[in-house]
Amino acid sequence: MDEKKVREAIERMCKMRDMYNSTLCSLPPKTREKSEYNNYVDTFLAAIEALEKQLAIKPKEVVGGIYREFYECKNCGSEIEPLDIYEDYCKWCGQRLDWTES
Ligand SMILES: [Zn+2]
Repeated sequence: MDEKKVREAIERMCKMRDMYNSTLCSLPPKTREKSEYNNYVDTFLAAIEALEKQLAIKPKEVVGGIYREFYECKNCGSEIEPLDIYEDYCKWCGQRLDWTES
């Protein structure tokens, strides 16, 4: 999936989440609690979170490793290595990683 499409999808998902949210806010409290719209808002949040992981971020280099250099995933803070099998993604949280130098 290319990054532009992911960003557009995130943007649209956020708009839809906001629409459902404002509908929810306009309901009387008791109706609001039981509304199916709550599930939609949760679903949008989960989808947005998953999509955001598709946007590659650079791992943070941790200085001071004794035996080897190591990196940290900026999303979950776990230790990751460039040699890991799932190197394009953090094996702990699924965050897409960008290992390019810049
Ligand atoms: Zn991670």
